[in-house]
Amino acid sequence: MVYLDYSAHTPPDREVMAAFMNTELDNPGNANSPHAYGMQAMELVKSAQNHIRDLMKAPDHEVIFTSGATEANNLAIKGIAESSRHRGKHIVSTPIEHSSVSAPLSYLQEKGWEIDLVRIGRDGKVDLEDLERLIRDDTVLVTCPYVDGELGTIQPVREMASIIAGHPGCRFHIDATQAFGKTEVLSDIADTLSLSGHKFYGINGSGLLLRRKTVSLVPLLNGGASTTVYRSGTPAAGLAVSLDKAMTAAVEHLEERNRLVSALNSELRSRLSEYRKVLFNSPEDAVPHILNISVGNIKGKDFQQALSARGICVSVKSACSVDNLPSRSVFAISRDRKRALSSWRISLSHLTTTEELNEFMKAFDDCLKELENG
Ligand code: PMP
Repeated sequence: MVYLDYSAHTPPDREVMAAFMNTELDNPGNANSPHAYGMQAMELVKSAQNHIRDLMKAPDHEVIFTSGATEANNLAIKGIAESSRHRGKHIVSTPIEHSSVSAPLSYLQEKGWEIDLVRIGRDGKVDLEDLERLIRDDTVLVTCPYVDGELGTIQPVREMASIIAGHPGCRFHIDATQAFGKTEVLSDIADTLSLSGHKFYGINGSGLLLRRKTVSLVPLLNGGASTTVYRSGTPAAGLAVSLDKAMTAAVEHLEERNRLVSALNSELRSRLSEYRKVLFNSPEDAVPHILNISVGNIKGKDFQQALSARGICVSVKSACSVDNLPSRSVFAISRDRKRALSSWRISLSHLTTTEELNEFMKAFDDCLKELENG
């Protein structure tokens, strides 16, 4: 098997798993209990929170541990919308959001919120002039993915933040799920920011929302006290410690891992460009971990299935999106429905080897012949 779907999921580091195991085994107490074992567990959760805040250079934010980015995105979007409904019910988002952002927005739309989607330019990036035009006095929230999970495009979030800063009642939520560990840590400009452990060798089921302390949220879950009023439930000490460990490794090794992945990406681009029918959808300045392509008019799903039959795992759009609809990101850069329907994504890791790329290229060649003749 050759795994080239690291943007959907990464295997946890052994050290991360060990941190989880040891924390859970050595700390039998409930972190909310006011006794020695409880306080010991709470101390670990708090120290993970403090360390993550330092790592993310976010002294003005609270770290809210969640079950992943889906929960963090829901908490930020519904939480901000509900808590600012007296000020306005207008939200600006993008057409390239993950379903964990677009679905809560659809939910809010049904409840009477007005949602506008900013235009994406031919470079795959948010059109800043359009953003400026869309923000109104009653806009309470703007959302954007820092890195688009389909193409790997890095969005101009800093420039977006400058525009949003001109509207003091408007909050900025950044979905950094596909960005963390791949590009610069950037939290100073975000009112809320989500990420997920299983995208950077942490444990699936761990994630967080950074919340600027001046931003209030209506919580998703109602329950007892915890480390925060925004997320009830017994704090999961093992997950908090393991997330901290995975985040620390991601930041420490960012440059060296990116160098490895960039070399793999260049190699792959150069070998695939020998095929006349291959169109590259990822821009050259995307994160190197993602290479999205379209091959002739062959549907992305058909290519994925043919590769899967040969033990190669790639993805069509994101794992959580609806099948058989054209990719919105690819449509935005190409305005070509067929190209958007035939796109698929190879995602790389520092763990990927040249041998794996060789195996992939051999399978790619076989699949192309089979699908062209089929
Ligand atoms: N946002 C983006 C951009 C994602 O790629 C994903 C995962 N595919 C999510 C949010 C949801 O993350 P989780 O799996 O942690 O719920």
